[in-house]
Amino acid sequence: MAKHIFITGGVVSSLGKGITTGAVGMLLKRMGLTVKLQKLDPYLNVDPGTMNPYEHGEVYVTEDGAETDLDLGHYERFTGDYVSRESNFTTGQIYQEIIRRERRGDFLGKTVQVVPHVTDEIKRCIRTLAKPDVDVVITEIGGTAGDIESLPFLEAIRQFRHDVHSRNCMFIHLTLVPFIRAAGEQKTKPTQQSVGELRRIGIQPDVLIVRCERHLTADSKKKIALFCNVDTEAVIEEKDVDHSIYEVPLMLLKQELDRIIAERLSLPVGRPRIRDWIDVVEDVKHLQKRVKIAIVGKYINHQDAYKSIYEALAHAGIAHKTKVEIERIEAEDLEKKDGLKRLEKVHGILVPGGFGQRGTEGKIAAVRFARERKIPYLGLCLGMQMAVIEFGRHVCGLAEATSSEFNADAKQAVIDLMANQRDVKDMGATMRLGAYPCVIKDGTKARAAYGKEQVAERHRHRYEFNNQYREVYEHRGMVFSGLSPDGRLVEIVEVTDHPWFVAVQFHPEFKSTPTDAHPLFKDFINATLAYAKDKEGEAALKLPQASEKAPA
Ligand code: GLN
Repeated sequence: MAKHIFITGGVVSSLGKGITTGAVGMLLKRMGLTVKLQKLDPYLNVDPGTMNPYEHGEVYVTEDGAETDLDLGHYERFTGDYVSRESNFTTGQIYQEIIRRERRGDFLGKTVQVVPHVTDEIKRCIRTLAKPDVDVVITEIGGTAGDIESLPFLEAIRQFRHDVHSRNCMFIHLTLVPFIRAAGEQKTKPTQQSVGELRRIGIQPDVLIVRCERHLTADSKKKIALFCNVDTEAVIEEKDVDHSIYEVPLMLLKQELDRIIAERLSLPVGRPRIRDWIDVVEDVKHLQKRVKIAIVGKYINHQDAYKSIYEALAHAGIAHKTKVEIERIEAEDLEKKDGLKRLEKVHGILVPGGFGQRGTEGKIAAVRFARERKIPYLGLCLGMQMAVIEFGRHVCGLAEATSSEFNADAKQAVIDLMANQRDVKDMGATMRLGAYPCVIKDGTKARAAYGKEQVAERHRHRYEFNNQYREVYEHRGMVFSGLSPDGRLVEIVEVTDHPWFVAVQFHPEFKSTPTDAHPLFKDFINATLAYAKDKEGEAALKLPQASEKAPA
């Protein structure tokens, strides 16, 4: 029977609950356990797929094509295991299912209520992951203790503990201990109150993970343990990291959270094996070179809108012992006079995925800049479509080349709506989603990067390369280096007369992990290093090492 760990958050949002959940999952997996991770989101949207990135950050796409919360990206990056659509449920999905059953008459005349019907459905969602071969299910509850909309979830996990017996289930609560400068002291009251909130509804946390800017003092720790009714050793400090989020599991390990969990749940396992992870964390501390990459997008001001891309670039950097410095560029700024000047000092240009016309002329200008000046270019999804439009306009003589996403009646729609999208009316979950195979042509940059003929990558799009134009493009020097196995769908394009210009219709960023950087990102960073060396010389690439820095 699977054991269950529930992770809740208190005091404020954005404490990094997803990272902590991923880190706990990673430790348990490396103790030899089969672990499944899951997030329950209290909002009413059925999934984040229709939400603006400014509302929600990145939409993370799973292998099986679910549009999910970006915390699932942390789960995959930390554990190295793929999650599925059973790893993310929202209040919207839960109510949708209950109302569907109510209309079918399943409730036999009974009044349908939050307790027990909504809480039962939440418990069913949790149990979907507890298959016979699974040792531990970790469920992260979105939101903050005390939110009105989180209440049914908290009531459901309280009941869950009762259903499976307390020896099979534990609660971890993540809180914040702020340092109040004026008082010169750490304050534990918000943590006490947040735990009080949980206990009021019948949940007693077993472990408190405490986010803090400075080390938790022995005094704070004792106080928290006493007033929150947890063992002192179960008050775990999670101080802001110095270098990277991948230090978090090591921090938890040092305080023996792995042992505390194993004992609490009677898991017969030893300490986790993490040699490769320690190497990664050490590598991050000792990066030797640096390159500057421009990301030209529409949501660059949002911390999390391109989360997986930032992470994938960092992973590729680690693989090359290189610090990847990111220049976030608002696409529309490149449409202004002298806007392109900002691209002069970068060593690589990346245009990420996106929707809608705003900013696309700026993105196209960035592609042109990369192509003409032979700066390494990586296009992702819309970033591939932009590359195709740019090449059409400036190389193939298709002056009006565009996408039918921006003009449904376009005469030169080099990017066009996919045939099976024409009758789609609903916006939610109707794109081409999830992993599909892609066959890669021999002798191309993509083939060299992947080192194999067939790969599977995740998609999230409605538009595609318009095959009417394949011949013209090929004739002018674009290579269609990746196609769907039936040859119909263009998945990867490359410009031949260029040191490294690769653009893909899919999202490789979702499959990169710190210990296994994605091949395309790795090769892209390699190309940017070569470009930078060529342009500025080896010395300019060198990152000043801590020991060489002038004393402060
Ligand atoms: N808007 C484009 C499409 O739907 C690109 C999507 C994306 O970048 N994810 O095809």
